[in-house]
Amino acid sequence: MTSRNLDQFLESNIANLKENGLYNEIDTVEGANGPEITIKGKTLINLSSNNYLGLATHAELKSVAKQAIESHGVGAGAVRTINGTLDLHIELEKRIAAFKGTEAAIAYQSGFNCNMAAISAVMDKNDAILSDSLNHASIIDGCRLSKAKIIRFEHSDMEDLRAKARDAVESGEYNKIMVITDGVFSMDGDIAKLPEIVEIAEDFDLITYVDDAHGSGVTGDGAGTVKHFGLQDKVDFQMGTLSKAIGVIGGYVAGKQSLIDWLKVRSRPFLFSTAVSPADAVASTKAIEMLMESTELNEKLWENGNYLKKGLKELGFDIGESETPITPCIIGDEKQAQTFSKRLYEEGVYAKAIVFPTVPRGTGRVRNMPTAAHTKEMLDRAIRIYEKIGKEMNLI
Ligand SMILES: *Cc1c(COP(=O)(O)O)cnc(C)c1O
Repeated sequence: MTSRNLDQFLESNIANLKENGLYNEIDTVEGANGPEITIKGKTLINLSSNNYLGLATHAELKSVAKQAIESHGVGAGAVRTINGTLDLHIELEKRIAAFKGTEAAIAYQSGFNCNMAAISAVMDKNDAILSDSLNHASIIDGCRLSKAKIIRFEHSDMEDLRAKARDAVESGEYNKIMVITDGVFSMDGDIAKLPEIVEIAEDFDLITYVDDAHGSGVTGDGAGTVKHFGLQDKVDFQMGTLSKAIGVIGGYVAGKQSLIDWLKVRSRPFLFSTAVSPADAVASTKAIEMLMESTELNEKLWENGNYLKKGLKELGFDIGESETPITPCIIGDEKQAQTFSKRLYEEGVYAKAIVFPTVPRGTGRVRNMPTAAHTKEMLDRAIRIYEKIGKEMNLI
């Protein structure tokens, strides 16, 4: 017999989530995650993916991935440090470093696992980490794993960061101090104040770590938020993912050679977990090459983002203060945001409601992620559906 204790735990906790409307039923996408998706046989305009440039289904990437399967097989065969480092992984890392303007880079199996790996390889219990209060879950978990003292500063509040950095230094309690932030915050689409963060880091000799999961491919003509501000020489860790704008799977840190050398001997998910497959590695490499050769997809992404924002704003919706294509439509009340999203679905738009505790109470919203792959016709159709439901629910 299996554990009755576990059964009790699961039953009561799942029932509790369901009662509070917090149990997430996951939709299955039938087929590819493109600008339109099919769920339960119904075709919907997809405004919920992180596939910013439409690369997840790009013909050239599919083609190089198939070739890599033929030449290298479907799996890497071992962890990187035994004999699972394929020439394709080395090419990917070289390409990432060139893309980010750094000496070197290390690739991981995912962005989440990269944060778990990289933070704890450098920080330990005698250190402190200054962390933006809206940082991603993988940053929080990576910080926890390191056992460093976590000091949260108010979201993008540079006075608070400076005061807490000063306190941490003056306490004399810590060997090393890191400041860590998302480059682009995915709930509101705002950009971290990196020039100020770097200035504070220089004043207090902080290690700087930017997680640019939502910035790479998007800001800085595609090269990311650090490039957007021209700070490639001033940020120690340029972390990113290959799973969002790049369209494939994986994560990475780009930085100086000595940092990457250290991560290759000390970060545990690199040492003890097999690398991404040959197909993944070449598809990511090719995607980065495409971004370095042409800004066409990046420009299309911004054009579509601005078009959707303008359309929703003209209808009278509150679209917040996004500085990127991420377009929140802030409804306020949590229940209403959920009803709004459900009605959008019924009318043919897939845009997820995001509510407390993911965002502050009373700022429930539907978040739209336009991509380079959307056509004007799709966006117009989505805007008309927003208008219909906005009026129906007396929101505009
Ligand atoms: C999505 C995300 C990650 C995780 O990336 P994956 O490659 O999907 O694991 C890490 N950090 C931030 C800020 C993210 O938005």
